[in-house]
Amino acid sequence: MNFMQKHNFGAGPCILPESVLSRAAEAVKRWDDAGLSILEISHRSAQFEGVMQEAEALVRELLNVPEDYSVLFLQGGASMQFCMIPMSFLQNSEKAAAYLDGGYFGQKAIKEAHLFGKVNVIASSKERAYADIPCDYTIPEDAAYFHCTSNNTIEGTEMFDFPETKVPVICDMSSDIFSREIAVDKFDLIYAGAQKNTGPAGMTLVIAKNSFLNSVKHPVPSMLDYRVYRDNGSMYNTPPVFAIYTAMLNLRWLKDKGGVKSIAWENRAKAQLLYDEIDRNPLFYGSAAKWEDRSLMNVTFRMHDQAKEGDFLAYAEKNGMVGIRGYRTVGGFRASLYNALPYESVKVLVDCMKVYAEKTVPYADVKPTY
Ligand SMILES: *Cc1c(COP(=O)(O)O)cnc(C)c1O
Repeated sequence: MNFMQKHNFGAGPCILPESVLSRAAEAVKRWDDAGLSILEISHRSAQFEGVMQEAEALVRELLNVPEDYSVLFLQGGASMQFCMIPMSFLQNSEKAAAYLDGGYFGQKAIKEAHLFGKVNVIASSKERAYADIPCDYTIPEDAAYFHCTSNNTIEGTEMFDFPETKVPVICDMSSDIFSREIAVDKFDLIYAGAQKNTGPAGMTLVIAKNSFLNSVKHPVPSMLDYRVYRDNGSMYNTPPVFAIYTAMLNLRWLKDKGGVKSIAWENRAKAQLLYDEIDRNPLFYGSAAKWEDRSLMNVTFRMHDQAKEGDFLAYAEKNGMVGIRGYRTVGGFRASLYNALPYESVKVLVDCMKVYAEKTVPYADVKPTY
């Protein structure tokens, strides 16, 4: 165990691959393609056009995006999408939008939607402190759209099945996009703030079916209108040049690693290693109520004796763990296992948990778990 090395389990902005960081750092000083810093080039330059094209091509290739979908680079974070979506697809509609309430971010999306029209929360796990993904719901056939969150970053639950419906499906994939294969054609609009698996903060990725975008009939302010981004190649105004460049480097890295299918195996192995320890170790338990809802990206867990959590946190931090404190309103621990986090880091965290338990649990109190 190398105690000096940091292991970044932060939930977002999160760890990026070492090679991406050094390439981006070089480009800040001098980007060879232009002979200037990436921070001082024109977004209209031929060189940056090349970056935009490659970034879009990588998104299309890595996620197998069908031809009739647009790939857009926006700003405002995933949170801006909470209002942009109902502003386009709910405003002026007689229909209600159907929302799945599976956690903190879903709730924020619902709050914004209420500003624009009728909202129907068709299922919620709020009463169960969002410890599971709501199930057993039906999407009304006349809904304007169905909105869900694929991975609940704070609560540590993840959707592995998406409903079959004729209603347009919109999904917030901020914290698990590019972590596993998805069937893009099952969704009408996918969005993701970049800082959890795509790149640094400052860019928001939107993948949307063109016919869905074309269904908007009322005027929308230009900067909040998906069609304006589409028709201007995401350059209606100055795009976040450095964020897009670094995201492109990160997607290149992912492609070189074998793409989404291959990273999905690694992500599964990392999550398994940590959940196995949580289940085995007498001091800890997993926060998600059902194993089938457990997130592979954000592993949330607690100690049976919550009074000890501060002590374990300090111990883990002393040993190089960064960002494992649970979200401020939730408490406990959250280890985020995004694409760039090495398996080795999970091993070190697991070792910390083992050694801590051996140090503090009297042998007589250890109950056999198998
Ligand atoms: C982080 C996160 C958000 C908020 O993203 P911002 O880019 O900070 O606006 C929304 N939804 C999910 C699922 C997230 O993980």
